[in-house]
Amino acid sequence: MNNPPALRVTAISKRFRQVSAVNQVYLDIAPGEIVALIGPSGCGKSTLLRCVTWLETPDEGFIEINGAPFGRQREGEMIRHQSRRQIDALRPRLGMVFQQFNLWPHLTVRENIITPQRVVLGRGGEQARARAEQQMAQFALSPVADRYPWQLSGGQKQRVAIARALVMDPAVMLFDEPTSALDPELVGEVQTLLRSLAQGGMAMLIVTHDIHFAVNVSTRLAFMCEGGIVEEGPVSQLVASPRDPRLRQFLALTSGSGRVNPSTQE
Ligand code: ADP
Ligand code: MG
Repeated sequence: MNNPPALRVTAISKRFRQVSAVNQVYLDIAPGEIVALIGPSGCGKSTLLRCVTWLETPDEGFIEINGAPFGRQREGEMIRHQSRRQIDALRPRLGMVFQQFNLWPHLTVRENIITPQRVVLGRGGEQARARAEQQMAQFALSPVADRYPWQLSGGQKQRVAIARALVMDPAVMLFDEPTSALDPELVGEVQTLLRSLAQGGMAMLIVTHDIHFAVNVSTRLAFMCEGGIVEEGPVSQLVASPRDPRLRQFLALTSGSGRVNPSTQE
């Protein structure tokens, strides 16, 4: 039997009063895959991420992480809901990197990376510290380990945010607009970093409105429109021959500079 996907999203829906923000979304992400979720502003990308992490309770649908249910599960004809506690205990399986990085301002880089391991996973001080040092070395953060977030560049802040998520040993990494707070010259660096994580087997879901970044970084694109994923597939296929007219329009509007070129795809 095949291994289960790192992340499986089944029939997730979320309404806010009159607005159907997410409507029957299905998505599988395998280890080592980078899926970029693109689509116009307000189409439901962030809401979908919040449903995947159960920070927002989906009205319907199921999330599985490495084949294990997260939030609720089907048991025969019944649906069993996990307790808040169970959900909070499982959430570290998902590594989240937010747009504004959300680092703790009163903690140093090292403390930002050690503290969640201690508090959330209950790791001992030695182990948490060793893991932090190893991750900081890998991300060229060791020289700034004793600095506070306000003393870092944007690129460094983001590397700290990614390192802090990775030391929790998540099954999947989730990013909401990872390039929007970065200077353009740093986008290539993030791309290289995310690709090296994928080579190590990490599964990633990246929400971005930046089609150029999406094309360059991902192995698969999912195009979301009005709450649903209307088209998905390999990057080259979606960019070269989009079927859905809304995707064609989105590509035409966002790729005017002609920089959309999936040439870096293997
Ligand atoms: P995107 O991230 O693609 O820009 P969002 O997921 O933020 O889109 O929003 C999808 C839709 O849901 C929008 O119409 C937005 O106004 C609405 N929405 C999102 N969050 C809330 C909320 N907490 N309450 C009410 N409406 C919301
Ligand atoms: Mg958003």
